[in-house]
Amino acid sequence: MQKEVKTTCPYCGVGCGVIAKLAEDGKVSVKGDPDHPSNFGRLCSKGSALGETVDLDGRILHPEIAGERAEWGQALDLVAQRFSDAIAEHGPDSVAFYVSGQLLTEDYYIANKLMKGFIGSANIDTNSRLCMSSSVAGHRRAFGSDTVPGTYEDIELADLVILTGSNLAWCHPVIYQRLAVAKAARPGMKVVVIDPRRTMTSDIADLHLAIRPDSDVALFVGLFEHLIASNAIDQNYVAEHTNGFAEAFTAATGVSFNEVLDMTGLPAMQLREFYRLFATTEKVVTCYSQGVNQSSSGTDKVNAIINCHLATGRIGRPGMGPFSLTGQPNAMGGREVGGLANMLAAHMAIENAEDRDRVQRFWNAPAIAQKPGLKAVDMFRAVADGRIKALWIMATNPVVSMPDADAVEAAIKACPFVVVSDVLKSTDTARHAHVLLPSLGWGEKSGTVTNSERRISRQRPFLDAPGEARADWWQLAEVARRMDFAQAFDFSSNAEIFDEHAALSAFENNGRRDFDIGAYVGLNHQSYDELPPFQWPQPAGHNATETRFFAKGGFYHADGKARFIAVEPVASDRTSADYPFTLNTGRIRDQWHTMTRTGKSARLSSHIAEPFAELHPRDAIEIRVGNAGLVEIESPHGKAVVRALITERQARGSIFVPMHWNDQFAAKARIDAVVAPLTDAISGQPASKNGAVAARRF
Ligand code: SF4
Repeated sequence: MQKEVKTTCPYCGVGCGVIAKLAEDGKVSVKGDPDHPSNFGRLCSKGSALGETVDLDGRILHPEIAGERAEWGQALDLVAQRFSDAIAEHGPDSVAFYVSGQLLTEDYYIANKLMKGFIGSANIDTNSRLCMSSSVAGHRRAFGSDTVPGTYEDIELADLVILTGSNLAWCHPVIYQRLAVAKAARPGMKVVVIDPRRTMTSDIADLHLAIRPDSDVALFVGLFEHLIASNAIDQNYVAEHTNGFAEAFTAATGVSFNEVLDMTGLPAMQLREFYRLFATTEKVVTCYSQGVNQSSSGTDKVNAIINCHLATGRIGRPGMGPFSLTGQPNAMGGREVGGLANMLAAHMAIENAEDRDRVQRFWNAPAIAQKPGLKAVDMFRAVADGRIKALWIMATNPVVSMPDADAVEAAIKACPFVVVSDVLKSTDTARHAHVLLPSLGWGEKSGTVTNSERRISRQRPFLDAPGEARADWWQLAEVARRMDFAQAFDFSSNAEIFDEHAALSAFENNGRRDFDIGAYVGLNHQSYDELPPFQWPQPAGHNATETRFFAKGGFYHADGKARFIAVEPVASDRTSADYPFTLNTGRIRDQWHTMTRTGKSARLSSHIAEPFAELHPRDAIEIRVGNAGLVEIESPHGKAVVRALITERQARGSIFVPMHWNDQFAAKARIDAVVAPLTDAISGQPASKNGAVAARRF
């Protein structure tokens, strides 16, 4: 029988609504959902090829222990026993979960509840650490909460859209489509793209600022100074709703225009034009993504941007605001349930004793993590040096995607007990599992995800669970039951988990916290199944149309005011005589993460079939490599071999390599083996956009 279901795309943070159709012959086709308010029927190439990725080739269809088929009961008993033994012998911090922005919110909620409230450690981190943790840290410093103030509509309403560290055309294609349509309808709209590379996104730009890598702080500190000098400050907003302006002013005036020119490498005319545009345009949205976040100064970059919006009062009003674009389908949902090692559930703070007490009381938990846990890079260091005795990896492939990936692989291989829950058997990470658990994939699982504009949408199943695959939340709850926490994990459906999550968001909230979906407490199963997409906040009794934050202040620091952060530019050139090139890694249009799904589609692979390194023509001459010749990229951490793609879009001295390919698809092309495990000191986010490497003809 034919079946049609409204669901959500599992790839990027745009979170497009999809209508999936299962034909009688088993074929799956998809189209955009015209009623979904984030995409209005649009899809990109990846989304529209979803039907080509749902076959069962390579699927894990039953649990395995040490490579042998096992019963679910045996596997779950073993996981519970080994985690309990490690905790009894070495304490709660000797175990860890490494999870994923691919998990649904309900899965994430159970993982976080088990680790933080019942095991009593905060050693749960996620691949979202690699994606947007600098934005989280920047938001919390400025706003006192991890709040994205605006909505996608603001990007269409703005008169000036700044895209910094964002290849929107390839990485958030449907937002790019919305922007392109808005700009075509209102040619007066200006777009500024800030990126060391001339990407496809630059093609829409009125002004492309090809700044030096990691010079964004200098650029926005210079802008802040210009706003002061040109009387563009909203004095009322600053006085009524902010603190710390004087300190930020002092820091900004310590950096001269010439120093900004020097650090950014921009021509003076371009810099003046950018500053003039910002100072004289009321409706400005600044979108930022991985080029801002994946940096050793990522948090400072976020705050340098937010400072300029606070100073002009351009936040939370239509067409105005700083806007973090998340990479993954459910990075935001993970943040909402505390899926990062330094957060508690429902946007509460792990450093705050009242919040810890509140969450512990709500869960009736025997323990609550007292301090932040290990962030991703530190977590795998702890695995490597033996501090972590038992590790559960869910829905992610860190052997390909973590920086210093060879060291991460060695750490996982040496770990005494590794559980992997995933859909594919042959990932570079899954093959090191002591226990392999079959999870549900897209089209089979059911739950919610939250996109970059705080919109919660349902992922609905339309395919039967293959073999013995089970939901990730079920696996976690079954292990929790076996660890003697049966009462707190007595869930029989994802609807019940969502209900508890919504209730926690509203628990003793009363406007104290930004994340509140109390209006959705008490949904019955049918209402949950039919839940239409909605944006938070939605406290009980709230005006459901109010979807922006901070136009009239109302920040979440104790005094209700935002904080300016006095950020200072730092030198960013890491190259040396031995490693003379700057390595920048990122995504391409038609692949997703480590290609475990998109790699199945011949259509998607035909866009770019092989891993490549973008090189400037003069650099290519210098290392004597021709177009499509093989080039070896090397750092002190590892090597990769890819094809040269010679293009003037790439700045001299810099190399761009996509992060997707792995040994399954192309030997020796795992670029994260080359990326150094250098992180932002505040957010712990790896600096994947600015590493020093050597490049030579292979
Ligand atoms: Fe999916 Fe993102 Fe493409 Fe939308 S833009 S269809 S969410 S990959």
